[in-house]
Amino acid sequence: MRTILVTGGAGFIGSHLAEAVVAAGDRVVAVDDLSTGSYRNVAHLSDGPAFELVVASVDDGATLEALIHGADIVYHLAAAVGVKLIVDDPVHTIETNIRGTEVVLRLANKWRRPVVIASTSEVYGKSDRVPYSEEHDMVLGPTTHSRWAYAASKAIDEFLAVAYHRRDGLPVVIVRLFNTVGPRQTGRYGMVIPTFVRQALRGESITVYGDGSQSRAFTYVGDAVRALLDLPTHREAFGEVFNIGGGREITIMDLAELVKERTGSSSQIVTVPYDEAYAPGFEDMHRRVPDISKLRRITGFEPKVDLEEIIDRVAEHARQNPDFL
Ligand code: UDP
Repeated sequence: MRTILVTGGAGFIGSHLAEAVVAAGDRVVAVDDLSTGSYRNVAHLSDGPAFELVVASVDDGATLEALIHGADIVYHLAAAVGVKLIVDDPVHTIETNIRGTEVVLRLANKWRRPVVIASTSEVYGKSDRVPYSEEHDMVLGPTTHSRWAYAASKAIDEFLAVAYHRRDGLPVVIVRLFNTVGPRQTGRYGMVIPTFVRQALRGESITVYGDGSQSRAFTYVGDAVRALLDLPTHREAFGEVFNIGGGREITIMDLAELVKERTGSSSQIVTVPYDEAYAPGFEDMHRRVPDISKLRRITGFEPKVDLEEIIDRVAEHARQNPDFL
């Protein structure tokens, strides 16, 4: 039985990863400060002997050292996430994302543990070269616009991971997660699908930001987890960056209509100017679609759960657990 350390293990993606690892017969130690993660995400795992939750911050080096030393592989998912949270509290975002990754990489390097670093499609910024491929330039806005703090902090994490690999041969894989969705994701930090589903189920207005012509491709969390588990089993993945995503591209207006239709909701769809939704001067990316050919080449990855099914699963979970949204 292997021990898998998951930072951010009580978060949305972390808890799904933990579930998959336990189901495969391995053991998970999750470390989470329960800031955006939550005990209830992992309550169903906590009864068994194969799961342990350690409540600590990832920049707590002493705690992390013992946990990394005791692990066979480390998944570093702990981060400040959600565009709304990032815009509201950029100091927290920058400090959490940079310090946490510094600690994890330094200790994984010291104890020679393979590590997967979760980055984000945000690092492509507002590049209009669609689909986004790992070798493309980052196109970020000015440092006076808080949104870009997230991308810049994650880019530093990536640089550091690549640098450890090149200098010391640290077995590290960097993954850029695209819009990853599914049950247990909360809409509290601005994510669009849980927000739309909540609004639709409650009969509230569905709030499309901007004119709704911006588009995304959404990936089911279970599909993303498969890629996360598969990648570090391939030696050629070490020192490399991979997009994890897929699914069909859809505009946010069409998404609002689809959520309304799948939930049988009578909600109105309304548009909200970006300045009101986030902050004055907020810049959104118009299209965000991943090129997953690199991931596919190494792992044979294909997303399996389509958008209709994703919405149905999110809505079903929300109906059964209304407090999650
Ligand atoms: N969005 C929206 N209404 C909401 C929340 C989000 O129209 O209530 C839009 C948001 O402006 C963006 C897209 O949905 O264009 C995806 O937002 P999310 O925060 O889920 O992820 P992002 O792709 O921005 O990281």
